[in-house]
Amino acid sequence: MNTEKLIATIRKVGARIEAEKDFLTELDNVIADGDHGINLARGFGEVDKKLDAMADKEPGDVLKTVGMTLVSTVGGASGPLYGTGFMKMGAAVKGKAEIDVPSFLEGLQTAIEGVMQRGRSTKGEKTMLDSMIPAKEAMEARWNETQDAKAAFAAGVAAAWEGVEYTKTIAATKGRASYIGERSIGHQDPGATSFTMLLEIVAGEV
Ligand code: ADP
Ligand code: MG
Repeated sequence: MNTEKLIATIRKVGARIEAEKDFLTELDNVIADGDHGINLARGFGEVDKKLDAMADKEPGDVLKTVGMTLVSTVGGASGPLYGTGFMKMGAAVKGKAEIDVPSFLEGLQTAIEGVMQRGRSTKGEKTMLDSMIPAKEAMEARWNETQDAKAAFAAGVAAAWEGVEYTKTIAATKGRASYIGERSIGHQDPGATSFTMLLEIVAGEV
């Protein structure tokens, strides 16, 4: 994926988030404060304004700008966390003219580590990590088996949705949803859901 394609893909991610804004906000409303869709839509709206000026930049710089914009414009936990993820991914693909599957996987791994560090969180706490980590593992396994980018992304999206389903079975121990603890069981995590939507858009562009 080169810069032109990356910019088009980020615009599509923004459009999907905008379309799912009310749904994501409603998911957050059930277990926390009902702003996840609003937060992300605002952030990607600001990102959109910056993308035109990025056409001659390398993909890593585009991702870094996306991350910095999300950190600075999104209130709430998800802005800094998503922002960190994008910045880490940008740093991981620095100097590359195109992002291929191995560099995407390396970027996703550093994004996961960035979210874990910034969120002081890990797998099984009902957060975005519960879709990010299984997605990365499934993509990597399928890529190693097949060297087929489409198949790898399809496996990643399927695993991410399974991760969303898994978040219904556990209580939140991080973020605002942790305030209701056990009562969050039965409800899917908004951040795991939005990450899966984001990955689904990227998968459609591969
Ligand atoms: P806020 O919780 O500040 O209202 P959002 O509603 O935008 O922010 O985002 C909530 C999402 O952020 C959660 O669904 C969860 O996936 C993610 N999240 C919250 N805290 C953490 C954390 N410490 N580590 C990883 N992800 C987190
Ligand atoms: Mg919220």
